[in-house]
Amino acid sequence: MHYSILKYNLIYTSHTIFATILKMGMEKLQMVDLKSQYKKIKDDINIAMQEVLDNASYINGPQVGLFAQELATYLDVKHVIPCANGTDSLQIAMMALGLKPGDEIITPSYTYFATVEVIALLGLTPVFCEVDPKTFCIDASKIESLITPNTKAIVPVHLYGQTADMESILAIAEKHTLFVIEDNAQAIGGYYTFSDGTKKANGTMGNVGSTSFFPSKNLGCYGDGGALFTNDSDLAVRMKMVANHGQKSKYVHEIVGCNSRLDTLQAAVLRVKLQYLDSYCEARRSVADYYDKAFANNPSITTPFCSPSSYHVYHQYTIQLHDVDRDAVQKELAIRGIPTTIYYPIPAHRQAMIESLHLGETVLETTDWLTARVLSLPIHTEMNEEQLSFISTQLIEIIENLKQK
Ligand SMILES: *Cc1c(COP(=O)(O)O)cnc(C)c1O
Repeated sequence: MHYSILKYNLIYTSHTIFATILKMGMEKLQMVDLKSQYKKIKDDINIAMQEVLDNASYINGPQVGLFAQELATYLDVKHVIPCANGTDSLQIAMMALGLKPGDEIITPSYTYFATVEVIALLGLTPVFCEVDPKTFCIDASKIESLITPNTKAIVPVHLYGQTADMESILAIAEKHTLFVIEDNAQAIGGYYTFSDGTKKANGTMGNVGSTSFFPSKNLGCYGDGGALFTNDSDLAVRMKMVANHGQKSKYVHEIVGCNSRLDTLQAAVLRVKLQYLDSYCEARRSVADYYDKAFANNPSITTPFCSPSSYHVYHQYTIQLHDVDRDAVQKELAIRGIPTTIYYPIPAHRQAMIESLHLGETVLETTDWLTARVLSLPIHTEMNEEQLSFISTQLIEIIENLKQK
């Protein structure tokens, strides 16, 4: 009897896949759909880009400063300093804060590698902190035990679009006089609510926040881009200098810097897209809401936990799979035309680059545990209900079938 149900399911499955794909006009499912997003704002974008071309002000054109002002207003932060990409933004922050080789920086290993790479690049020492298995963000309760006299900064990452536990992190930082650099590459548009009810935009709570405008990020441009946010005016001056060859005025170099600029075409694109950021966040949240409902009570799927303090903007929708082979599920989804990604297959502390630093033994059980179980599903601003229904039905069915084997 079991067998016949299974067989019926399989026949039924291939039939529905075919019917659904037909209905969707054979539209290919993607992790992100930047083409459809562009089509909707094409006229505004094209006009904005044409203006830059007409004025040939490719570097430091007026759009760069205007975008910085508009983003500062949006985030309610004093200073926004644009730069070339998100990785640079982290580097500029650490250089401007005067961090020196030997300084220890507490950060999660469970992040995109750039966070850690920049620490190593500057000769600083990464000290890996465990993450909270529910939020995927740094586990604030484990930070204090890692603090030594050499600790200078904490770099929380607002992973997948959810704000880290900033209230606890800021309290620890204040107690031990540490800098806080928020890696906000995945959570722009989101905000955090403190226990007294105060709301602050992600990236504006620490000494400095950094972000990326990589095309697939929540506020993405059409190339590379990044920015820094701060309410500290002295730090803003230093970060501007670092991003501009260490100079305040032309040809007068006061400190070691680098060359990191947001180009005018990207700023023009971002000025248009900033107007849609709230609606993009809402679109992502309704995708998440759909998945949450579809997978509720499925014992094999843990849906993302949403902290009540965080307005989650779902850069990724990342589930944890239990009692079923995650890689087999991913393979089967791919066969059915559903792309998924594992963010991140190898945590930073297991990367050869970090092992070459001989930091000593790093035990991060939760990080390793998550790495083996997470799977990120397609989520973007252009998803429709048909696609969501298809993806969730297929995933549930695949898990059922694998468990019956
Ligand atoms: C994307 C990302 C970065 C780096 O941004 P780039 O613009 O690609 O350099 C840094 N940290 C995190 C968490 C990211 O997701």
